[in-house]
Amino acid sequence: MKKRVILMGPPGGGKGTQAKRLTEAMNVPHISTGDMLRAARKEGTELGKQADAYIANGQLVPDALVNGIVAERLAKETGGFLLDGYPRTISQAEALRESGQAVDAVILIDVPDEKLVSRIVGRLSCGSCGSVYHLTTMPPKTAGKCDKCGADLVQRSDDKEDVVRERLVAYHNQTQPLVEYYSRQGILHSIDGEMSVDEVFEKIRQVLEF
Ligand code: AMP
Repeated sequence: MKKRVILMGPPGGGKGTQAKRLTEAMNVPHISTGDMLRAARKEGTELGKQADAYIANGQLVPDALVNGIVAERLAKETGGFLLDGYPRTISQAEALRESGQAVDAVILIDVPDEKLVSRIVGRLSCGSCGSVYHLTTMPPKTAGKCDKCGADLVQRSDDKEDVVRERLVAYHNQTQPLVEYYSRQGILHSIDGEMSVDEVFEKIRQVLEF
């Protein structure tokens, strides 16, 4: 049976990179609230407008907005899924539980704070397919262009150092309590996110047994 998995971890910890590989390998949909919110912002929808200032300042978007888009998206899913960046607060986790979607495993990619800022500040992503690169640790083959689709690489506007620091504060204050919440349920698996991308992927593969 396909697994229902939550991928969590601090900003810059490698969630997006692993999520792309995992969803391909597990053949489940990748549900990223960050991607959904960025798309809404780009399209200028009502949701995008409401989320805009929070994202720009590195704060979490209010639970009610995010819970709404996830509930709508998950209502279509009857099999497995990979949730990336959701839930991010206890109240989001409660909303997910109340929606009736059981979760099989929560993967925490753990990276200490001091490593995160430099990891995020060098990050580039493809404006078209969303593939993620890093100026020094994972550079594209041609500078500024996506290896997969050739589109231009861009820096996310919330990847600037001052915003990153705010995102870390939000992570510690609002998201980290979920570590205990899911450990108490016995479904949390913590992975050392300082290993290479391949090693982290392999550890997750072992935990999820696919
Ligand atoms: P991410 O791409 O997951 O790093 O998310 C980028 C930004 O989108 C975050 O800094 C938040 O402002 C917002 N965001 C994404 N997911 C959530 C969520 N589950 N709850 C609240 N805000 C979110």
